[in-house]
Amino acid sequence: MADERSDFIRDIIEDDLRTGKHGGRVLTRFPPEPNGYLHIGHAKSICLNFGIAQQYGTRCNLRFDDTNPVKEDTEYVESIQRDIEWLGFSFGGTALYASDYFEEMYQLAEGLIADGKAYVCELTDEQIKEYRGTLSEPGRPSPWRDRPIEDSLALFRKMRSGALPDGACVLRAKIDMAAANMKMRDPLLYRIRHAHHHRTGDAWCIYPMYDYAHPLSDAIEGITHSICTLEFENNRELYDWALEHTRVAEKHGFTRPQQIEFARLNLDYTVMSKRKLLTLVKDGHVRGWDDPRMPTIAGMRRRGYSPEAIRALAELVGVAKTNSVVDIGKLEFCVRDDLNRTAPRVMGVLRPLKLVVTSYEAGAAGGAQTFDAPYFPPDVGKPGSRPVPMSRELWIERDDFALEPPEGYQRLAPGRTVRLRHGHCVTFEDAVVEGGEVVEVRVRHLPETLGANPQGVKVSGVIHWVSAAHAIDAEVRLYDRLFAVPRPEDAEGDFVQNLTPGSLEVIRGAKLEPSLATAAPGSRWQLERVGYFVLDAVDSQPGAIVLNRISTLREAAPARAVEAAPAEPREKNAKAKTRPAKRSPAEYRAEARARDEALAAAFDRLQRVHGLSEGDADLLTGERAVAEMIEGAIAAGAAPDAAARWLVNDPSFGKAPYAMTPANLAAFVALPLAGPAAKEVFAKMRAEGGDPRQIAAAAGLDQAADDGVVGKLVDDVIAAHPDKVAQYRGGKVGLLGFFVGQVVKASAGKASPPRVQELLKERL
Ligand code: ATP
Ligand code: MG
Repeated sequence: MADERSDFIRDIIEDDLRTGKHGGRVLTRFPPEPNGYLHIGHAKSICLNFGIAQQYGTRCNLRFDDTNPVKEDTEYVESIQRDIEWLGFSFGGTALYASDYFEEMYQLAEGLIADGKAYVCELTDEQIKEYRGTLSEPGRPSPWRDRPIEDSLALFRKMRSGALPDGACVLRAKIDMAAANMKMRDPLLYRIRHAHHHRTGDAWCIYPMYDYAHPLSDAIEGITHSICTLEFENNRELYDWALEHTRVAEKHGFTRPQQIEFARLNLDYTVMSKRKLLTLVKDGHVRGWDDPRMPTIAGMRRRGYSPEAIRALAELVGVAKTNSVVDIGKLEFCVRDDLNRTAPRVMGVLRPLKLVVTSYEAGAAGGAQTFDAPYFPPDVGKPGSRPVPMSRELWIERDDFALEPPEGYQRLAPGRTVRLRHGHCVTFEDAVVEGGEVVEVRVRHLPETLGANPQGVKVSGVIHWVSAAHAIDAEVRLYDRLFAVPRPEDAEGDFVQNLTPGSLEVIRGAKLEPSLATAAPGSRWQLERVGYFVLDAVDSQPGAIVLNRISTLREAAPARAVEAAPAEPREKNAKAKTRPAKRSPAEYRAEARARDEALAAAFDRLQRVHGLSEGDADLLTGERAVAEMIEGAIAAGAAPDAAARWLVNDPSFGKAPYAMTPANLAAFVALPLAGPAAKEVFAKMRAEGGDPRQIAAAAGLDQAADDGVVGKLVDDVIAAHPDKVAQYRGGKVGLLGFFVGQVVKASAGKASPPRVQELLKERL
């Protein structure tokens, strides 16, 4: 699996290995600040950094970026280690800490001062900000910028000694107050903080800033590829400055690490900033960092998401260079896909209604028999079964009986027969109603129907059940999305106002089949027709089971406990093929269409109306942005197959949002451009948007796109080969290829062959 993966970061690594840039070494790191629990965004970074280490047979360092003593805590340090291991990665058992390098960082800072590359500045924070200037105006030098080196050195030592209060002065790099990159305008390297550090205690009262500590930590460890998120793009110049002027990598015998930025993971309906997650915990909006509604790894673990599902999401989303917001449906898809293959099927009833099978004999053991029920349907193809006891009195789901069934109702109702999952078919006899509510339903069983269809009787559906005498009670916690809006941080007001009211519903008195009495906390199950559940790892006890709903069975019905009855798989799926071990993005697209009618309609239109192949139509209708792009371009006059070809062959397909508009795409496919020139224009238009004609002109490629220029080349070629022209006109039309080749060659490969061909045909 690992070797299939490829992305721009792995391409860089491959190149570096080829050129021997780091002497053939690959070493990555994951550098969390221990100021909160890890979330799903961190999981993406972990999968990338540790995944690369696995792929290249090297190591990924876990390094705590513990340079800010105020917000950090050992609780976080421990949770982070636990979460990384749970995700399936190893940091070799020993975590590293930026704080272990404090002494060396300090010495290197003295070296910078001695070299005239850093100075102690006594401006206040506000003054420093004011002196820094703006994007359009250069900054002004601090009055302390040119103080004697010895003064800076003495003051820096005094800062370390503890003799100065917080804020008295800072150490700054001496770079360029007029630099276009604001980060380079004499950035802070050290500040005074009289604070207790969770590891170094009170040994230090000055702490290095991230932009100084990070490159130095990387270089000290011999990191080769320092992968971070896009917000740090502007910091790269400073990162390189620190490496260059301290020469720290060389001192350790390493090549300098290279910072590479990639797009962070954002999910809709989710907040990911640790500060906001901390607010949710501190203000009691959730029950803790590991609340199953939280996007933390601890929360998702408790919710019942598996590490495989989270890793599958990281893979599905890929590594991109442009930020985007990922549909949370993708995460839910990965979770369900994993559970479908791994969660044994059992029966449980959330809202019980008594069902009496009157034809089973009366008495405690009435109707007593035990069915051997397989844990998995044939299409999953896994072994295992458990005994399921049957008796005269059962619990069924309240929703599975209706005195007056609505249209399309596939369950039990007066006059109907349904199958009891794994058991007999039963026919309605009577319902006991008290105070307007059905309190008991009475049915008769059809004796010949075990594993066989009844003769001449229509079966309305299959329902699940639990024997009342054998059932065990459980508390069931149903979770909805924590936030009610797709962009909780962008909406008006405080983000907590966008919390879903009642995102936790607790059901007490649910009834489970007895086999679950011995289920382990943390084990995951499918309650057939109801959803996927996990025994809560914290609150579930033998005899007092607590289930968390991990997910509904399908995407469509988020808030409903009970789903429509599936066909009894026993006969129908007997021939089904075993599912391949891993589902593909193709299945995600199919599921997206199943939930989104607009996508389904576009899938159909692209084939029927616009003549695209099913394969292309499929690729183009996995998400709205892509479907709208192709349909919009066609509406703007683009040839469907040409527009489709560019979209599906796009190297960033599905990884980054489009900056171009459908009209840009339509204008692009109409351009007589081909080869590398066309690719260049497409890539720029896709990444930055804009009229492709202008992009071509700016890149000097417009000649190839200009009929006048190409026409001139055509005329020249015709004039240069009078004999071939005569032959062509005499009927040797095969010579057209020769002429096209000559013109394309004359255009240095830029002219589009189909357009050249058209022009030639006109003129020959
Ligand atoms: P937050 O903004 O949530 O507080 P952070 O970036 O401050 O997160 P760190 O502990 O510094 O948290 O992050 C450790 C690593 O995880 C960094 O390399 C960071 O780039 C990466 N990371 C953080 N959030 C994401 C995300 N949403 N997607 C991908 N990587 C992320
Ligand atoms: Mg950070």
